[in-house]
Amino acid sequence: MSEEMTIIDEVVRAVRKVVPAERGRVGLHEPTFVGRESEYVLDCLNTGWVSSVGAYVDRFEAMLAEYTGVEYAVATVNGTAALHVALLLAGVEAGDEVLMPALTFIATANAVSYCGAVPHFVDSEEDRLGIDPAALAEHLGRIAERRGERWYNRETGARLGTIVPMHTFGHPVDIIALQDVCARYGLVIVEDAAESLGASYRGVHTGGFGRVAALSFNGNKIITTGGGGAILTSDAALGRRAKHLTTTARVTHRWAVTHDAVGYNYRLPNLNAALGCAQMERLPAMLEQKRALAARYIAAFAEVDGVRFVAEPADSRSNYWLNAILLAPEHAGQRDALLQVLNDAGLMTRPCWTLMHQLPMYTSCPRASLPVAEAIERRLLNLPSSPFLA
Ligand SMILES: *Cc1c(COP(=O)(O)O)cnc(C)c1O
Repeated sequence: MSEEMTIIDEVVRAVRKVVPAERGRVGLHEPTFVGRESEYVLDCLNTGWVSSVGAYVDRFEAMLAEYTGVEYAVATVNGTAALHVALLLAGVEAGDEVLMPALTFIATANAVSYCGAVPHFVDSEEDRLGIDPAALAEHLGRIAERRGERWYNRETGARLGTIVPMHTFGHPVDIIALQDVCARYGLVIVEDAAESLGASYRGVHTGGFGRVAALSFNGNKIITTGGGGAILTSDAALGRRAKHLTTTARVTHRWAVTHDAVGYNYRLPNLNAALGCAQMERLPAMLEQKRALAARYIAAFAEVDGVRFVAEPADSRSNYWLNAILLAPEHAGQRDALLQVLNDAGLMTRPCWTLMHQLPMYTSCPRASLPVAEAIERRLLNLPSSPFLA
């Protein structure tokens, strides 16, 4: 038997210790509705409050703000819409370059494009999987140029004003170090916290560090509203503006239908918010299950040489949204064979996203050198992560 076969056998054996064959086919992250979900959704149907107005939206927003420790949460139709408006609130303008990791889900880059701005890709850290503050500082030292109060990319002439760190799979970015670099270059932080509800850094919930942040409640996220998202901020003016822009910028009046800006129809329907309220009630219990599942993976992979389970980084509490392993560089060539064997066995596993700068619409975007993101992409696999597997 070749050495490469051994690593495949060992990984399959480790995953099987956590997810035995009796489980049948398992997905990457499947939602469960074992709380008051049907009661709340039926309440919407029975009362007729299914659409853009209703008490569940207010209640869901209040639950999100309280849980994450921010002042304002504004629910939206999905996380991408939340990111789009969050970027506008941060002051992103057409022609700007917005710094963001190359290693992220497509929504981060697309939201930047919706603003008429250009993504500018930076590298990630191997242990946290998020933006590397030291590599960012080095890159900015090379390309950033100050003119008056603002910073520009000296190579393209575009303004650099905003950065979007993303807390990959629910592991917090090294956000304090990042804030330090951002302060030096006048960068506003918009957190893509779509994957990190329930994760915190030094006791502060992810989404509480940036001027604005975005959450997602898509069907595969830690809690779901079917489809949905939220904008978080502790700035009162931005909170009001977020609500205004996501509700067609309608001016409040007893009967007149008037608008004072190009707004968006991004408001989360009450029906979806009802689902969200019931899911939020269960979030603490689900987070416990996620930790228990991660602990079982950690134990199972402890004896496997050449594989690192991506565990909670320093000073952080991860939500373990998607469990991940990194193959040692010498085993990277076995990644696809491993994906084949695991998926054939009914264990849904996935590689990392194709890096943003390798996608056809983003190949010509400005970027830093990305050696770590590229190495992670070749070696990472996501493992079945549904909380009920714990
Ligand atoms: C899920 C996700 C989003 C938002 O996705 P929606 O499907 O629009 O809710 C944004 N960024 C990242 C990193 C995500 O994983």
